[in-house]
Amino acid sequence: MSLKRVITFAVALLASLGLVAATSLVILTTYLHRATLSLQTAVEGIQSTEDFEVSLLDLHQRLGSRIQRGEAVTVDFIEEARRQLSAQLDRTRRQVLTEEEGELLSRVDTAYSQYLDAQALALQSPPGRMNAQITRHLETAIVAINQLISLNIQEARLNESQADRWNQMADLAGLGVAVLLVLGVVVLLVWMRRAVFHPLLGISRAMHRFGDHGERTRAPMEGAEELRDMARTFNEMADSLLNQRQARLTFLAGVAHDLRNPLSALKMSAALVTSRGPVSEERLQKTMALVSRQVSRLDRMVGDLLDATRIEAGHIELKLEERDAGELATSVVELYRSSGTAHELRLLLPEGPLPLRCDPTRVEQVLNNLVSNALKYSREGSVVDVEVRREGEEVWLSVKDQGIGISAEEQRHLFTPFQRTGSAREKAPGVGIGLSVARRIVEAHGGRIEVESSPGRGSTFRVRLPRSPSVPASREARPGPFVQDPVFS
Ligand code: ADP
Repeated sequence: MSLKRVITFAVALLASLGLVAATSLVILTTYLHRATLSLQTAVEGIQSTEDFEVSLLDLHQRLGSRIQRGEAVTVDFIEEARRQLSAQLDRTRRQVLTEEEGELLSRVDTAYSQYLDAQALALQSPPGRMNAQITRHLETAIVAINQLISLNIQEARLNESQADRWNQMADLAGLGVAVLLVLGVVVLLVWMRRAVFHPLLGISRAMHRFGDHGERTRAPMEGAEELRDMARTFNEMADSLLNQRQARLTFLAGVAHDLRNPLSALKMSAALVTSRGPVSEERLQKTMALVSRQVSRLDRMVGDLLDATRIEAGHIELKLEERDAGELATSVVELYRSSGTAHELRLLLPEGPLPLRCDPTRVEQVLNNLVSNALKYSREGSVVDVEVRREGEEVWLSVKDQGIGISAEEQRHLFTPFQRTGSAREKAPGVGIGLSVARRIVEAHGGRIEVESSPGRGSTFRVRLPRSPSVPASREARPGPFVQDPVFS
């Protein structure tokens, strides 16, 4: 699994949990607040109804004692009591929440008003005549009041249990979110340990071991996708370093081998010249000619190596001029023909001149290398075709042989310094630097070099150059891996 995906998922999960927790907290507190408010209203309703009941009974008792004591009860006294009771009932009315409560309250209202009316009538009637009516109205009012109180008590209980329920739900929600969070963190930590820390440690150990001359050490490819990629990149880099090291050794061996032949020829010639015995004039001439050939071979080899080093180090200067591409190819082919090659070298040119803006010496160097390879890696007597042609705004220079060919796998590394194919090693000496230099020269011209080949069926190398390259007259190429080679430093 990818680290990026897991972290995104974890953050999204955390954010969703936070959102759920916050939303449920807001909803729960709102409902809790509402339930508490209703509870408070119900309790206040009970209190004010009870106060009203006490006031009504108190009034009834006060009226009774006045009459008993023979004190006069006036209409004003009763009206004053009515005002007070009505004000009290108004306060109770404010706490009414349901229709049922409203109905009971209006029954209380009617009953206490009738009770007071009966008390007022009793003032003008003979004593004791209205007593039965007064008691009936009072009882009706008290019954309604008690019903109202018990209704309020019921509502208060209901609201209380509702508040309890919301409270429990809030507790559960909080606990659930906390458990999920802890679980998520634990799962993430376990995963991080297995898929991140452990592989990271493996890569770090491999890097240390690699640095301590453990060149065959490779990082384990495990854990998150990114770390597997990292380990793969490290392993590829380690492989490439190892390959380069081996290539360097091969290169040194190749150079040593190539230098040895002319050197031993020179040694033998020197021994002949300095020998005590008589040396004929003709023999001396031959020896001197051999010395001269070997010295120029050595000179060419060292020159080639220096040139390759400079190009690989990124110093390539193009001296651009307009030349006929056909003419360049002809001079290269003629050179090989005149050296008496055992191959049949064919040249295919366009009808007229094909102007090409290039550095002619460098282009000839590339063609030279391609033709020399074609001859080296194909059987004597076989045909090598050199073709020049125009393709749109490009000039194509191809060298085709009927030689040993190159496998698809080997083609991938063909233009890397020091790379030689297995079959080429047996066939001809070489150090594997010509093609990498050729590629740099072609790229410096803004062109491309391609190969089409298969083992046993020959190869075609094609150089594609723009007819007028958009490169400055002198340019620096990117340094290649070759410059790190101590041989050239
Ligand atoms: P060198 O020929 O000195 O080894 P090059 O860089 O010119 O160096 O070539 C690199 C390798 O590419 C050769 O060693 C050989 O394995 C392969 N190669 C190049 N040209 C051909 C060819 N025409 N046919 C088969 N193999 C070739």
